Amino acid sequence: MAEELDQVIANALREVLEVTPNAIGIFDQSLTLIYCNDVLAGLFCMTRAEALGKTQEEILKRSFDTSEGINIASDDFDSWYQELNCNQQQTHFNQFEADTTEGVVFKMTRMTLDSGLMVMLGTEITELKQVQSSLELALTKLELLANTDQLTGVYNRRYFEDIARKEIDRCIRYQQTFSLLLIDLDHFKNINDHFGHHIGDEVLIHVTSICQRQLRLTDTLCRIGGEEFAIILPSTEASDALQIAERIRESVNQANIPVDEHQTNITMSISIGVTEYKRHDMAISDTLIRADKALYRVKENGRNSCLLI
Ligand code: GH3
Ligand code: MG
Ligand code: MG
Repeated sequence: MAEELDQVIANALREVLEVTPNAIGIFDQSLTLIYCNDVLAGLFCMTRAEALGKTQEEILKRSFDTSEGINIASDDFDSWYQELNCNQQQTHFNQFEADTTEGVVFKMTRMTLDSGLMVMLGTEITELKQVQSSLELALTKLELLANTDQLTGVYNRRYFEDIARKEIDRCIRYQQTFSLLLIDLDHFKNINDHFGHHIGDEVLIHVTSICQRQLRLTDTLCRIGGEEFAIILPSTEASDALQIAERIRESVNQANIPVDEHQTNITMSISIGVTEYKRHDMAISDTLIRADKALYRVKENGRNSCLLI
């Protein structure tokens, strides 16, 4: 009776192995494939008859040589296979993702049984991976959006706070320095009053791009207020920062900024407070206060200038 039941179960399982959408393969002790279903053979672009009797190495090498079936992420098959073999000998169980040249992804489970047989089971996760990568992409876009000023396209205040904190941490850890420029457009209210808010917006965009063009890739320009910008200059001492500030101020002041369709050009000026990070600055707000003081004095002294404190 028990034997009959065993037989029934064995037949049922055999049928399941044939019809399941999961991939199943069994290798013997010498890693020769002794059983597989069509799904597993299909992962290697083979028929079951072609796959059976081949070793794991032969099956994988075929994918490597023909670029068909499982993607092998290496230029050197022998070293790659040696490492795989070594890992398989060290552990009895592992899980990994296998993707094919046709864009199908399987989550694989490998088990080496007490008998020495090695069983491979695989479940298709292509759709799951696609959802995962579109979610990751959406998250990246969302992060960028959350850190970007909509009008000018440069970073916003939120990002400024983030990067400033990181910059201070970096300076403390590696005994480095950075400088901060605080920029404010001079008499900007007049632009809005004369030409309207819409033109004011365009002027802001122009001035931003002039400033950006003067910077190195490592510098970060952020719009931290209506017509106020901050620039973080990593690994830059005060005297160099002052020179950079002067260059930015001059380039803005020399530009002819178009303000309407009739090609009327105006000139703008900016004031810049400059300061270098100091060891006793506990947070960026301490550095900002100094830059703000410098900026305030420039405004008091007539604007269109840079001052270092
Ligand atoms: P000061 O030289 O002392 O800085 O004079 P100011 O006119 O630039 O300074 P004030 O702070 O009096 O005015 C800043 C103006 O910036 C007021 C505000 O309407 C304008 N502003 C702030 N954000 C925006 C914006 O996004 N677009 C436009 N068009 N104007 C803005
Ligand atoms: Mg202002
Ligand atoms: Mg202003």
